[in-house]
Order: sequence, then structure tokens, then C-alpha cells
Amino acid sequence: MSAEVRTGIGYDSHRLAEGRPLILGGVEIEGAERGLSGYSDADVLTHAIMDALLGAAALGDIGLHFPDSDERWRDADSIALLGEVCRLVRADGWSIANLDSTVVCEAPRLSAWRDAMRARLAAAAGVELGAVSVKFTTNEGMGFAGRGEGIAALAAVALARA
Ligand code: MG
Repeated sequence: MSAEVRTGIGYDSHRLAEGRPLILGGVEIEGAERGLSGYSDADVLTHAIMDALLGAAALGDIGLHFPDSDERWRDADSIALLGEVCRLVRADGWSIANLDSTVVCEAPRLSAWRDAMRARLAAAAGVELGAVSVKFTTNEGMGFAGRGEGIAALAAVALARA
């Protein structure tokens, strides 16, 4: 009999604003003209991965665990929250097989930061670098991401019964 396996998906988007750092996958993008606005550090990539993990384990979503009505999560470090989500998933009896993700961003070009994001996410999640994928695409000028109003991220994860 094969091991029990679960998959999960996650999606998030945040608005771009002046005067904010741009943090993606726990990495601050130096030279970015605008950053993402939000209650926490607005790390849209890490948020999508957290929701995918919670989804795979059927443990709700990040709004349930880290509500924006709670002062504790104001300007929260999303990488620390990812660590807490991984702790919850493992406590529920799962091991993390892999994380895959896509960032939808018109500008700036992000590929130079890919490996730094992968390393940061892998360390926070306690998985091997080879189990973490971060991809980038533009939206070809279409929609909110294409017009540079915001950045979106999608994630998929697989869990195996530990
Ligand atoms: Mg978010």
C-alpha cells in the first residue's frame, strides 16, 4: 500500500505601494521602487506557500491562524509565520515533500533573487533546497499584476504521512 499523500494550493495578492520594502520569499529586493502593502510584511509568496501547506493538511488558512484583527501580526515576519505553519503541519502527522510556487510580477525582474528565496524558504520550512521551487512570470500587461498595481503568487505543496 502506498503512503498517504496530500496536495494543497495557495494564492495571495498584495497591492504595491510607495514607501514599503519589497519582501518576497523572505528576501528584501534591493532597489525596488515600491513594496507590498499589508498588515504583516506582505510577503505574498510566503503567504501563498503557507496557505498551500495549511490546505494540504486541511488546517484552515492563514486568516484563521494569523487574523489581521490581532495586533501580534502587525508587520509580522512572514518567514517566522511559515515556520509556525510547518510546525502545525508536522504536529498533525505530515512531512513536507515539496513546495512549488509562481510569482506573477511585471517589474522588477526577480530571477536574480530566486536562489536566495529558495534558500530562505527551505530553511524556514525545514526541507532540502531541492524540494523548493520558485518561478516568476509576468502577466503580459493584463490585469492588476500586468498594470503593476500589485503582485500575486500561487503555490502548490505535497505532504506525505510521516
Ligand atoms: Mg497575504
